[in-house]
Amino acid sequence: MKLIMLGAPGAGKGTQAAILSERLGIPTVSTGNILRSAVKEGTPVGLEAKRYMDAGQLVPDDIIIDIVAQRLTQPDCAKGFILDGVPRTIAQAEALERAGILFDNVLSLEISDQEIEQRMEGRRFCHRCGASYHVHNAPSQVPGVCDKCGGKLEQRDDDKPETVKHRLKVYHVQTEPLKEFYDKRGILRPVQNQPSIEATTQVVLDALKL
Ligand code: AMP
Repeated sequence: MKLIMLGAPGAGKGTQAAILSERLGIPTVSTGNILRSAVKEGTPVGLEAKRYMDAGQLVPDDIIIDIVAQRLTQPDCAKGFILDGVPRTIAQAEALERAGILFDNVLSLEISDQEIEQRMEGRRFCHRCGASYHVHNAPSQVPGVCDKCGGKLEQRDDDKPETVKHRLKVYHVQTEPLKEFYDKRGILRPVQNQPSIEATTQVVLDALKL
């Protein structure tokens, strides 16, 4: 299974990707997580990417394509993979095709901007392992502490309200055209967001015929 998770920031891509990843035994490749590690380690890519990320803007396509192409050559991706947060522009999608990276399914998580803005406020991430939580919808067992590694949970700078509004605009302008791009290739699977994570997983599994 070679799958793309498409959807606005905060639509639940990471959450559903983690569930599918465990169920299918294939890794999730999240460019956001890879970039955040690079920022933390202070690598040249991290330093370059940080300027864009802090402003809620997209990191340049050439940096992203390098990261993805490199990650997908690792042995754990041989049976399949789930891309979370990439491609984010038509140029990235075309570059992946040119590199011979093709997909079976593109899941598009559909949700209103208003719902996203309410939801992002509650998102928390483990600063150590990157696991995601939500203070209401998917809380950790001990508030503020990661269930998986005991790391501290934090709100990302780019989940702050003003940045969220800007990121939604970027999504509609730059990323949403990918729906038509993949619909033309016959692999777009739109899925409506449901009131719970479990209910959304069910419609996701139905859409993927799993
Ligand atoms: P995410 O965790 O996927 O929401 O990504 C966080 C930030 O990383 C985004 O707001 C972008 O600045 C950057 N980023 C992640 N993936 C991409 C991508 N495919 N293309 C451009 N920028 C990206």
